[in-house]
Amino acid sequence: MPRYVYFTFLGKHRFGQVTPEGVVPLRGTLFDETLEPGAEPMPWHLVTPDPPVRPSKIVCIGRNYRAHAEELGHEVPSEPLLFLKPPSALIGDGGEVVFPTGQSELVHHEGELAVVIGRRTRHVPPERAREHIFGYTVFNDVTARDLQRKDVQFTRGKGFDTFAPMGPWVDTDFQPADQILSVKVNGELRQRSPLSLMIFPVEVLVSYISRVMTLEQGDVIATGTPEGVGPLLPGDEVTVEIEGLGLLSNRVVADPEAPRAGAGGAEG
Ligand code: MG
Repeated sequence: MPRYVYFTFLGKHRFGQVTPEGVVPLRGTLFDETLEPGAEPMPWHLVTPDPPVRPSKIVCIGRNYRAHAEELGHEVPSEPLLFLKPPSALIGDGGEVVFPTGQSELVHHEGELAVVIGRRTRHVPPERAREHIFGYTVFNDVTARDLQRKDVQFTRGKGFDTFAPMGPWVDTDFQPADQILSVKVNGELRQRSPLSLMIFPVEVLVSYISRVMTLEQGDVIATGTPEGVGPLLPGDEVTVEIEGLGLLSNRVVADPEAPRAGAGGAEG
């Protein structure tokens, strides 16, 4: 089960494969790697995972689980609902989600399965979509729900820096079936669903998107979240786990750059 990571070790960005002995450094890219000569495995607890890919775009799917569409009061869509998240929002496993203090008062977690595209993809039929998939990773489509409702576009509500935790690795053997996706906040279960309850399966999504835009090597598709989305607050620890794939853990922090209440106000 090859699992690939980008990580920081002693201040250097590296690329490697996760093994039972630790992370084995590799040379090259995710799609064309060679073993680094003489490389020794590094213990997992000593490395800092970075986002495992650098996509040109993150294509997200809205309302791809019936119970989630219903909990937000929406109809089940008749075709996939697409929106984009900027790559500037990405953080890795263990990275901090910055709560946009002063701009949003309702930030939600959305645990999701993410697809990593392996090669340029345009107009691919569903039955050939698997040939274009490199692997899978775990994703949290963090959302400022109040801003998403207020704006016509999803750009602001979905696009804050740090609103796209992804990782810890890309697994090239994982095949989505009925594995359980679960989300916990401070250890309390919030979301739990088999991946098989997706309305539009992965092959259909890759095909559908590829008829709209060219998918590039390394692009990411976040396949939608099941029911149970709920609030995150500074101090919370949110984990998204997909059976057989991995566990993504991130802490929420207050925005250190947000103007403090009263700062610059009348009292000065
Ligand atoms: Mg989502």
